Amino acid sequence: MKKIIAANWKMYKTPSEAKKTLKELISLLPADIFNQKEVLIFPSPVLLQAVAEETKGTQIAYGTQNFYPAEEGAFTGETGIAQMRDFGCQYALVGHSERRHILNESEEMLQQKMHAALQEKITPVLCIGETLEERKSGQLEEVLSRQLASALQDDKDADNFLVAYEPVWAIGTGEVAGEQEILQAHAFVRNWLVKNCKNGQEIPILYGGSVKSENSKQILALDNVNGVLVGGASLNATIFSKIALS
Ligand code: PEP
Repeated sequence: MKKIIAANWKMYKTPSEAKKTLKELISLLPADIFNQKEVLIFPSPVLLQAVAEETKGTQIAYGTQNFYPAEEGAFTGETGIAQMRDFGCQYALVGHSERRHILNESEEMLQQKMHAALQEKITPVLCIGETLEERKSGQLEEVLSRQLASALQDDKDADNFLVAYEPVWAIGTGEVAGEQEILQAHAFVRNWLVKNCKNGQEIPILYGGSVKSENSKQILALDNVNGVLVGGASLNATIFSKIALS
């Protein structure tokens, strides 16, 4: 399985900054990197045109950080699936912790998003993870299995999705999960997928949470870590290229 190196640009960059970052990134990535790695970019929707233009002819794929689970319609402020498709998006994040916890996105809505993306052949990246309180009170496995079961309830036979384990307490905090914590959570997710999904052994599981160029190599070498989802450290082309090359 190729390792997946994904960038979540969050609500950062203007179109000209996005183009500049991608130009730099493309110049820093050797062509043969795509034999071992898949590189994905998740920009804000207003950057999709710039990202589509700048990545044309490269093997960098991209997708949205969020979308509404309908082709089009009266959903003010949302991005629909027809719009994503027209911009060439192949992927979409679903259930990022900032959307769960800041935008109060419900598990029911996330299940609809997973289902809609899979039906429309957009590959969803289902983000799951526990808060610090949940971890401290011993609820890690309960939270992960609840989030997986809820989001995948109609799609357990699907093979075209990814899971990103992102402990909420490690996102944007500089506090990366320890190796044992990552190994334990990823093994739990892998077992859950194998037990409950048709292609559970093949579903890539990414780690996300304060990944940097200094720790990416060790994290990517861990069992059941099939890639990384990188927030803050993906904004800089030099740093992100080091992560992709690690
Ligand atoms: C993220 O946004 O998914 C993320 C993991 O952020 P950071 O790398 O900044 O912790």
